[in-house]
Amino acid sequence: MLDLRISRLFNRRNTVGHDAALGFVAGVLAVAVFYVDTFTSTRIAIAVLYVIVLLLAGDIMTRAGILAIACLCGALTLFSYFYSHGVDSDISALSRMVVSIAALSITAALLLRSEAFRAELIGKNAALRESEARYRAIFNEARVALWERDYTMVRAHLMNLKAAAVEDLRDYLRSNPEEIVRCIGFIRTVAANEGARELLGPKACEPGAGRNFIVPDNSFIDQLVAIFCGDTHFESKGNVTTDAGETKLVLISIRFPEDDDAFHRVVVGMIDITQRELTQQALVEARAELTRASRAATAGALSASLAHELNQPLGAIVVNSRTLLRWLDRDPPDLAAVHRSAERMIRDSQRASDIIQNTRSMLSQTERPAEWIDLEKLVEETHALMEHEFQRSAIFFETIAGADLQAVNAVRLELQQVLINLMTNAMQAMADCRHHPRRIELTLERKDEHSVCISIRDNGPGIPEEAIAKLFTPFYTTKASGMGMGLTICRSMLEAKGGRLDGFNHPEGGAVFEIILPIEDDNV
Ligand code: ADP
Repeated sequence: MLDLRISRLFNRRNTVGHDAALGFVAGVLAVAVFYVDTFTSTRIAIAVLYVIVLLLAGDIMTRAGILAIACLCGALTLFSYFYSHGVDSDISALSRMVVSIAALSITAALLLRSEAFRAELIGKNAALRESEARYRAIFNEARVALWERDYTMVRAHLMNLKAAAVEDLRDYLRSNPEEIVRCIGFIRTVAANEGARELLGPKACEPGAGRNFIVPDNSFIDQLVAIFCGDTHFESKGNVTTDAGETKLVLISIRFPEDDDAFHRVVVGMIDITQRELTQQALVEARAELTRASRAATAGALSASLAHELNQPLGAIVVNSRTLLRWLDRDPPDLAAVHRSAERMIRDSQRASDIIQNTRSMLSQTERPAEWIDLEKLVEETHALMEHEFQRSAIFFETIAGADLQAVNAVRLELQQVLINLMTNAMQAMADCRHHPRRIELTLERKDEHSVCISIRDNGPGIPEEAIAKLFTPFYTTKASGMGMGLTICRSMLEAKGGRLDGFNHPEGGAVFEIILPIEDDNV
């Protein structure tokens, strides 16, 4: 117990030998001062030398220890005073004692204050060390590739350029490309983690390395511009070269310090996105290819109805030209009737031309402009295109149009392609229905103040339960010769214009596909 209390008086900053030596010297000095002060008749303030004892103790003791030694020295001073002078001492002896006590008190106060500062400093230092250790652990164990790089020189160089009146750094670097290489040479690697070694190889991560993996592309120029402009954060895609000489596309993220002096340790993070970019590119290409293929397939399916469609205006043109000839052969010719027949021929030729034009633009790959579309009219036209197929498959088609339908702003041919796709799917789904009449019901209605809804319902077997969640997944199909891209393409075309496409089963049987299209308030 006593041991414990005594141990609280010592700070244990130094070695035991050092503490013991200092303690011994302080003890001897205290005894000597006490002896001289008590048993000799010196006329100087010898007790002031207790200050040295206190200073020696200050190096090896805690605050409590310092306080205890200060009290002890004070008590010894008082004891010596009363022992040698009694209560009736002269004023000079009293003043020597007071000076000694004052010196002891001031020294003790200063020592206690410095001890408090020291304790605070030690606390802060420990917190700093802990935070540094935490940072190191995160740095080393992160799966992201991390570098600590020294940007001091490159920053100083860029600031020199700024001071030399360079205003547009990008422009300057374009006309002085050797400056980019120079800047790369200024960058040093301070440390790198395991993720960085995996990404670029060990050589690129050695301390001092840096230049060898930086590619002087636009992203690096952007990085320099960020430093030049004093940005605190930089993020971009860029290229890096591995130890093996392979170029990788990475997402680079850098946090630049606000303090100019901290540029010697800038953390640079990189994520390899090479594979992701390649996959994404392949996906975009595949999607474009499939869109073209689907368009061509739709056009192929349309060719039969196209022939059927053209038959009608061409037949009418033949009939009208014969009538026209008959009116001309009359004597005298009936010119008014000739005029009427010629007008009908022009109208029918125009229709035939429109039908051909429609099919041609459906096959072309050019981006088509959006236009205001009257939905009832579009459905009518689409039905006309499909009519022949519906007749062959014995399908009864019905349109139900609600009130207050507004024109929508969309690409006519795309919307028509969506309708044809959904109607074709409905038709194919009902191919095996023999027990009841096949029916497709298309409903046009205002959904709310911002949108209209086109729903296409069939009375086929409905969507298989397991297919509902995968309907819009690319290449999902339940048909032997299906591609599984129709619904995916329809949905992406609609979503690109702010619309939606959903599919579900109707409670009374059959599948329903719902197209939601946005309308604008000033739409008329
Ligand atoms: P595909 O027609 O080439 O199969 P889609 O993307 O158009 O590609 O359709 C995907 C799948 O969705 C179809 O294979 C089918 O299983 C299901 N499906 C689509 N429309 C209907 C429908 N009207 N009734 C039942 N199932 C449907």
